[in-house]
Amino acid sequence: MRRFTRDGADFIVATTVDELVTRMAALEPDAPLDVARVRDEIAARDRMLDNEFGKDAQLTAIRGARKYRGDRLIRVAPPHRLTDSTHGPLIAVRLHVLTRKSLGGIQTDLECRALDATGTPIDGLYAVGEAAGFGGGGVHGYRSLEGTFLGSCLHTGLRAGRAIAAANRRSTRRSA
Ligand SMILES: Cc1cc2nc3c(=O)[nH]c(=O)nc-3n(C[C@H](O)[C@H](O)[C@H](O)COP(=O)(O)OP(=O)(O)OC[C@H]3O[C@@H](n4cnc5c(N)ncnc54)[C@H](O)[C@@H]3O)c2cc1C
Repeated sequence: MRRFTRDGADFIVATTVDELVTRMAALEPDAPLDVARVRDEIAARDRMLDNEFGKDAQLTAIRGARKYRGDRLIRVAPPHRLTDSTHGPLIAVRLHVLTRKSLGGIQTDLECRALDATGTPIDGLYAVGEAAGFGGGGVHGYRSLEGTFLGSCLHTGLRAGRAIAAANRRSTRRSA
C-alpha cells in the first residue's frame, strides 16, 4: 500500500473527506464528484456502525466474516468509522473499467480453429483463451468458478500451437 500511495498515479491520500474528494475531482475532471454527496454517503455508512442491523452491505459482510474465528484473527480487521482519524489517512483510488471475463467468444473446434456461422473452419484462423470463450463461459459454463480461467487459456494456446505446427508440417510435405 505504501508503494501504491507513494508512486501510484491513481491514488490520493488526504486527512479529510473534502480534501480527498476535491483532489480526486481534479485528477479526473471528466467524472464530476460532488463533495457534499460523498460526505453524506460516508456519514450514512459510518452511522451503520452503531446499528448491528444496519443495511450497509460491506459492513454486513465484515461482521459476517468476523463471526469465523480464522477470519477474525488474521484476515478481517474490526470495522471502524471511515472518518476516524486514528485510522487515517483516507485513501481514494481512481478505478479503470475493464472486461474481466467475456463469457463467450469465437466458436472453435478441438484444434482451436475458428468456425464460421455454418461450423466450417476458417482457413488459417485460430482462437484461444478469452477470445475463444475460455475465460469463463465455454468449458466452465456461465457460472464458471473464479480462478479456473488461466488453465484453459493456456491449454487452448497449447492446442492451437500444436495444431498450427501440424498444419505447417502437412503443408510443407505437400509442397515438397
Ligand atoms: C483482474 C483479473 C483477475 C483475474 N484473476 C484470475 C485468477 O485468479 N485466476 C484465473 O484463472 N484467471 C484470472 N483472470 C482471468 C485470466 O487472467 C484471463 O482469462 C486470461 O489472462 C486471458 O488470457 P488470454 O491470453 O486469453 O487474454 P489476455 O491475457 O487478455 O491477452 C490478450 C492480449 O492481446 C493483446 N491484444 C488485444 N488486442 C490486440 C491487437 N489488436 N493487436 C495485438 N494485440 C492485441 C492484449 O494487449 C493482450 O496482451 C483474471 C482476470 C482479470 C482481469
